Amino acid sequence: MNFIEGRRVVTQRELHANSITRHHVTNFYREQIANSGYYDHLKYIVEPSIEEFESLGNLDTSGENDNTVVRGLQHKYAQTGLLLVTDRCASYCRYCFRKRIVGKNSDEIAPDFAEIAQYIGSHSEMTNVLLSGGDPFVLSTPKLDKILDYLLPIPHLESIRFGTKAVAYQPKRFEDPALSALFQRIHEAGKTPVIVVHFDHIGEISVDAERNIRSLRARGVQFLNQSVLLSKVNDDPEILAATFAKCHQTGVRPYYLFQGRPVKGASHFQVSLRRGIEITHGINQRLSGIQKTFKYIMSHYTGKIEILDLGADGRVYMRYHQNKAPEKIGKIFSRPHVEGACWLDDLPEE
Ligand code: SF4
Repeated sequence: MNFIEGRRVVTQRELHANSITRHHVTNFYREQIANSGYYDHLKYIVEPSIEEFESLGNLDTSGENDNTVVRGLQHKYAQTGLLLVTDRCASYCRYCFRKRIVGKNSDEIAPDFAEIAQYIGSHSEMTNVLLSGGDPFVLSTPKLDKILDYLLPIPHLESIRFGTKAVAYQPKRFEDPALSALFQRIHEAGKTPVIVVHFDHIGEISVDAERNIRSLRARGVQFLNQSVLLSKVNDDPEILAATFAKCHQTGVRPYYLFQGRPVKGASHFQVSLRRGIEITHGINQRLSGIQKTFKYIMSHYTGKIEILDLGADGRVYMRYHQNKAPEKIGKIFSRPHVEGACWLDDLPEE
């Protein structure tokens, strides 16, 4: 197998035992990164590294199994349902936090949307669903339409959200004329279609991606962007500020900058909290008020935590952006900082 560090012979058993994600990259993305001027950053997103074999962590850092209420449906936060609709992606990110699922035949994928719709229908607090996986846009448009057949009749759903990196990996997927009709269906059912794209680096935002985003925006689709803070890829305020400014210019609202998770096979991508906070300050210093709409977030087992600052008192200040317990949302809390800490669990409770 070809690794960034060179060629190495590995057995299937070794790949499996170390949870090494399947290696597949679209020709489009290969060309995009080769011609972007940033190949030395972007290669780490999709090219395997031997560091993956040494990278410690676990395969379900956010407690997804514990929050699964029906096979393929997670209900962690009251208002949101998360559907795993496929285990496939257009290309596979080496840092993916769903390594346990992607590129495999996973039994966590939704097999029965009738059962899912029944659960959502009986939970009126759920106002939006997120179709995720894997990447929902590897599914054909008729397959996505079938999923919507179950979701659109549910009166309390206000928006249908799609989480996708296909806009970076395979933007021509979004030229499918049948997709316009699909988004129109969502509108006609009185709901808002939202696409959360996943650009980690300005070098991933191709001309084709920009054109397709603009065209779908003109059809009433809202766009947000989430990025993951990744060592060697985008741990630089200049790059992330340029990425978010480009998103803003394209009509995509910067939404989350995720702290990398301690995922087995991917924890070498983590950036320390100290450096992450410095980078976030650097991004905010470079952007105008209407561009800095992102939050620096740690998607922890206990909830989504916004990382605010490292105080002069040597404590990391944070606040729950989402939590199962509503009374915890918005409350600022702190923990003593430890040099090199990358995750809440690395910080002592007192
Ligand atoms: S596209 Fe998303 S789900 Fe697929 S490998 Fe990348 S991060 Fe994981």
